[in-house]
Amino acid sequence: MKINISEIADSRELKYKEDDLSFFESMKEDSLGEIEIKEPVSVDISIKNQRPKFYVTGAIKGAMTLGCSRCIKSYGLSFDSKFSMTLEQVRDDDLADIHEIELTDQDLQVEQFTGDEIDVTRIVQEQIVLLCPMQPLCKEDCKGLCSQCGGNLNEVDCGCEIEEKENTFSILKNIT
Ligand SMILES: [Zn+2]
Ligand SMILES: [Zn+2]
Repeated sequence: MKINISEIADSRELKYKEDDLSFFESMKEDSLGEIEIKEPVSVDISIKNQRPKFYVTGAIKGAMTLGCSRCIKSYGLSFDSKFSMTLEQVRDDDLADIHEIELTDQDLQVEQFTGDEIDVTRIVQEQIVLLCPMQPLCKEDCKGLCSQCGGNLNEVDCGCEIEEKENTFSILKNIT
């Protein structure tokens, strides 16, 4: 969704379901691993016009499906996250680098844009990416896969000889 800034008198509230999540497909190959968002994300956003600056506060709510980095099982993760940022409209020739994000305040980003439109979809997508764990875990203490038989150690006690001391000891006892 894109908002023309001429449609923002003082401020503008937007509530909608973001369903343009196709960007995930292209990011999967890179850093995000197997992350999928199957349902549209609820967006509740408010944009305050103080031209050339626009103050954005919002919340996104939804759920993603990830692959655990230890046991490769997929699991769901719901999110409900608030954010705030500042956008600054600049002319094309003033734009040093459109991808450059300047950190001014502790948690306020200033992001420059050109043209007359604020790309809300892109803002939402960026926020979702920030929420994606770099090393997804289905649970804090996921035991992962057995290095011998590949069994999921959360679900099976395969009894393979692994570097766990207690295990080795009991196996030795069985031999004698
Ligand atoms: Zn796991
Ligand atoms: Zn095993």
